[in-house]
Amino acid sequence: MQKILDFFFTPLSDLKSVAPLTKKRLISLVGERYIDLLLHLPNSIIDRTYSPSLIDAQTDRILTLEVMVEKYFWPPKFQKRAPTKVRVRDAHDPKSPALTLSFFSAKQDYIESILPLNEIRLISGKLSAYKNALTMLHPDYIVLPEEIDKVKGFEPVYPLTHGLSNRLIRKSLCEIFQTLPDTPEWLDAMGCKTQQWPSFIQALKTLHYPQTPALDEHARKRLAYDEVLSSQIALARARTKAKKTVGFSLDLKTTLRDQLLAKLPFKLTRAQTRVISEIDGDLSAPYRMRRLVQGDVGSGKTLVALMAILSVIENQKQAVLMAPTEILANQHYQKIKEYLEDTDVRVAILTGRHTSKERTHLHRLLRFGDIDLLIGTHAVFQDSVAFKDLRLIVVDEQHRFGVKQRLALAEKGEKTDVLAMTATPIPRSLAMTLYGDMDVSAIDERPPGRIPIETTLLSQRKMDPLIERLKTQIAEGSKIYWVCPLVEESEKLDLAAAESRARALQQILGHSVGLIHGRMTAEEKHTVMHDFQDPNGTLKLLVATTVIEVGVDVPEATIMVIEHAERFGLSQLHQLRGRVGRNDQKSACVLLYGTLTPTAKKRLEVMRETDDGFKIAEHDLLLRGAGDVMGTKQSGLPAFKVADFVEDRDLLKMAITEAKYLSENETNREKAIQLLLTLFDRPSGNHHFFAG
Ligand code: ADP
Ligand code: MG
Repeated sequence: MQKILDFFFTPLSDLKSVAPLTKKRLISLVGERYIDLLLHLPNSIIDRTYSPSLIDAQTDRILTLEVMVEKYFWPPKFQKRAPTKVRVRDAHDPKSPALTLSFFSAKQDYIESILPLNEIRLISGKLSAYKNALTMLHPDYIVLPEEIDKVKGFEPVYPLTHGLSNRLIRKSLCEIFQTLPDTPEWLDAMGCKTQQWPSFIQALKTLHYPQTPALDEHARKRLAYDEVLSSQIALARARTKAKKTVGFSLDLKTTLRDQLLAKLPFKLTRAQTRVISEIDGDLSAPYRMRRLVQGDVGSGKTLVALMAILSVIENQKQAVLMAPTEILANQHYQKIKEYLEDTDVRVAILTGRHTSKERTHLHRLLRFGDIDLLIGTHAVFQDSVAFKDLRLIVVDEQHRFGVKQRLALAEKGEKTDVLAMTATPIPRSLAMTLYGDMDVSAIDERPPGRIPIETTLLSQRKMDPLIERLKTQIAEGSKIYWVCPLVEESEKLDLAAAESRARALQQILGHSVGLIHGRMTAEEKHTVMHDFQDPNGTLKLLVATTVIEVGVDVPEATIMVIEHAERFGLSQLHQLRGRVGRNDQKSACVLLYGTLTPTAKKRLEVMRETDDGFKIAEHDLLLRGAGDVMGTKQSGLPAFKVADFVEDRDLLKMAITEAKYLSENETNREKAIQLLLTLFDRPSGNHHFFAG
């Protein structure tokens, strides 16, 4: 096995048939090792098997033909830019029409050496007709007739970069294939048979040495599956390992919880109850919890987290709730204080806004265990913050945190249970790939009695009548969000647009219009939000940049206007729309659009037709591809070389099932699977949530 591995991991710099500079380019394009080049698959195929006699040949096709060289036409000396022309004829049909080969900026002696007069050469290239004469511009190949095997056939075409040719890649692969070892089968033999998949090596051969004019889909699928399966096995193993990570186990005390639940004017939904019991299972088990709770906007994640927090506190331990923005941290703080006002739970908030004196004081309290629950932004994980006995970390809107912050968090306590929450409804299959080493719970039900939000699409040009209607709504007591989009990715312009919109609206609606944006200080934002939230406040319409996207909860707000909605992604629109429809009144969302591309139109129609976050996420995946669904490269989406998230979604499902089977059953494939994992750079246990 080691020998096989050594072969695949041979550095490409060892290739004998490639010059050093070219090798460098090759390595920067594909990677450093043989396996990297082997997995650099062609994206199309040129058919060079077409070779009728010239008389019968169709134009605008690649033609491969033996020709007799008849005559040179050198460009006149004063016309350096004119092409050199060489007249040839079909070598096996002297009566055939003449064919003119054209070459730009070719040296005379070069032409004479590759196409000697009165000799026969094999050429291949695209045949064209120019003014009724047959021509071929720069043939792809000009070789001796006995070299036919090098040319005639199906030629794979590779993705390239500057300074690399297709021919060079083929030459390099040829050298590798000469000594390519066989590999043991890591897939289930029966499975391969049903899918009609070739072996790993056979698949590589078929793709790099095609025998048909189209790429072999069975071969590609096989390799894509190998790749997807390797990532799933690695994730499953990492998860098993995490399960075995020793943690704390808690007694599940529920006095505090019951007290709170009794006070609430509503009952938990079935989904909430289910997820809470899944979390309870983790809390009371002696391993470290690493659970992701997925729940659409408004599904009531905060309360679920609070239940876990209260269990911890009742055990005289500490908990932390971390939110991505100050607005959100504040909101959690207010709400939780309110929930817990008749208990002696000690809650504190820590954001970037606190003075260093306040901070020092807070740090002391935390260290002595005089605070039970700390709520805050990532400030809660600065080095100086130490806890007496931290048992639970809750991360709200966890996808908004960067890799660094997640790492810092992980260091705060090796055994500390982690509960992550996200409102980005990722299709389940994708969630498995992203967070496969975490357990995933879904709150897939919304509190009852919510009236669906009515979504309408409206041209930007119809804004005036819309504003008139809003006027009436405000008079009737409605609270309205008005979101302005990002302008050309520039925060400055973005802000300018929002400011001028706010001014324009103030002209019509007066003091009831406010503005909130990312450049305001936390203090300012807080004041604005506070007024908007207050039923007796002056602000009725809040113009906002996308700062309100995440988690803001103002139940009184019932209308959401989104300007230039076509510039937003689907999940962003869904998040924004989720800011309304949070009480028992009818809510509306107006999507204003400018110029619509077909895809943008489809996106907005999806918004109008459904408000199911998971369905929207599926559409998003289809319309944009997985990378975009997550928005950033930071998403931690594994980069696949062969597999495609959209095209190969069927494979993902299969791989999840197989990885699960393999983690629960022993097979005699274990050694081969080790090889698979190594070939695809997925040493087990390496993919870690916090490494992101
Ligand atoms: P999100 O999942 O978006 O974070 P929140 O936790 O902010 O949602 O909850 C949204 C609103 O729904 C809050 O005002 C909360 O009080 C309310 N809520 C939570 N659970 C229920 C329930 N079971 N029934 C009715 N309302 C609920
Ligand atoms: Mg929330």
